Amino acid sequence: MTDEPTYGFDTLQIHAGARPDPATGARQTPIYQTTAYVFRDADHAAALFNLQEVGFIYSRLTNPTVAVLQERIATLEGGVGAVCCSSGHAAQIMALFPLMQPGCNVVASTRLYGGSITQLSQTIKRFGWSATFVDTDDLDAVAAAIDENTRAIFCESIANPGGYVTDIRALADISDAAGIPLIVDNTSATPYLCNPIKQGATLVVHSTTKYLTGNGTVTGGCVVDSGNFDWSANDKFPSLSAPEPAYHGLKFHETFGGLAFTFHGIAIGLRDLGMTLNPQAAHYTLMGIETLSLRMQRHVENAETIAAWLEKDDRVDYVTYAGLPSSPYYERAKACYPKGAGGLFTFAVKGGYDACVELVSRLELFSHVANLGDTRSLIIHSASTTHRQLSLEQQEAAGAGPNVVRLSIGTEDSKDLIADLDQALAKACS
Ligand SMILES: *Cc1c(COP(=O)(O)O)cnc(C)c1O
Repeated sequence: MTDEPTYGFDTLQIHAGARPDPATGARQTPIYQTTAYVFRDADHAAALFNLQEVGFIYSRLTNPTVAVLQERIATLEGGVGAVCCSSGHAAQIMALFPLMQPGCNVVASTRLYGGSITQLSQTIKRFGWSATFVDTDDLDAVAAAIDENTRAIFCESIANPGGYVTDIRALADISDAAGIPLIVDNTSATPYLCNPIKQGATLVVHSTTKYLTGNGTVTGGCVVDSGNFDWSANDKFPSLSAPEPAYHGLKFHETFGGLAFTFHGIAIGLRDLGMTLNPQAAHYTLMGIETLSLRMQRHVENAETIAAWLEKDDRVDYVTYAGLPSSPYYERAKACYPKGAGGLFTFAVKGGYDACVELVSRLELFSHVANLGDTRSLIIHSASTTHRQLSLEQQEAAGAGPNVVRLSIGTEDSKDLIADLDQALAKACS
C-alpha cells in the first residue's frame, strides 16, 4: 500500500509503507538482514551511485525494512519523506547537519529533554555551531534571538519533562518570517497527538526509542521532512541549494524538489555520518507503531487519572500536567493537542530532594529508569540523573528542579499505579 490520504490514522499505522513481500508474499514486513544488494549490471550500479535511479546499494544508506519504517512515519506525520537514524540524538544532528555551517546557530527552546540541552549547548560547539536558548512563550524574545547566522528554530511539541506544550503555529509564523526552518521534536506527543507539519513545522524529529516503539526494546530516531521549505529562496542553505562536489555538482533542491532534504539525508548524511538504523531495530519499531493510537489513548487516560489524584494529595506540592485544568497550559493543550497532553508529567514532593530519592527507591510497579514512552510505568528523579549535568538554573528552566520527579505513565491499570504511588509516598514523606 502506498500512502492513501483517505485512510484513517489507525489504518495507516498498520499499513502505510508496507505491502506483501514481492519475493515470497510474506504478509509481515521481512527483516532484510543484508548489508548489500546485487546490481543488475554495471549501468544499473552507475545509475544508483549517480543518484539517477533510486534503489538499494548498501545498508548504511538504505535498507528495505528501514524504508518501510521511513514511509510509515512520514505518512503518519504528513511529510513527504523521512530518514531513520540510530537514535533520537542522531536524528537531531541529521536534521541540523544540512542546514548548518561553522559560525551558524540554532534558536532553541529552554524547555527540552536534558540530553538535547547538553547536545545543543555543549557538543555542537565542536562543529563550530551554537545554540541560543529562549523561552518559547516569549515570542518577541524568540524573534529577537534570530540573527543573520540563525539557520533553524528548535523546540519540542509536548516538552519533556515540564508539563509544557508548545504553540507550534506561533513559532512557525516567526520562522517563516525569518526564512528559516522550524524543527519540532515530536517524541513525547507522537503523530497521534500532534502533527507539527500541519501546524507549520518544516522538519519533525523523533526518538523512536520512546512511544513509537513503545516497549523499551531498541533505540532509534527519525527526521521527517514536510517538503514545503524553499531551500533556494536565499543563500543560507548551500548544502541543499548549491552544487554538491561529491555528486558531480548536483544541486539537491533543483534536482529533487520537495524531497531534497530527504535525499540529502540519505546520500550525504547517512553515507558520511553513518548514523544508520539497523533493520532489526526497524522491525521492533514497526511492530510498536501498529498499536500506537491504542497505547496513546491509554497513556493519556491513565495520566489524566493519576495527575488528578496526585494533585489532591497533601504530600504533593504541585503537579505539572497540561491535561489538568489547573495548568497554565490547559487551554493551549485543548486547542493544539485535542486528543490529550500525553503520558508524561512531573510533580513536586514536599520533602524535597531527599524525599524524591526515597520515593523512587520505594516504588514497586514503577521502574526507576532513564527512559520514557514504555508500556511500563517509569519514574525518574531528573535532578540526580538526566539533568545532573545542568546548572540549577537550567534544571529549573527545564522544569526539573531538585524536588521534582517525572513520571512516564504506562498502560497498566491506573488503580494499581495509584496504589503504588500511595505506599511509596507514605514511606518517603514519613
Ligand atoms: C529520548 C529523547 C531524545 C533522545 O533520543 P535517543 O533515542 O535517546 O537518542 C530526544 N528528545 C526527546 C524528547 C526524548 O525523549
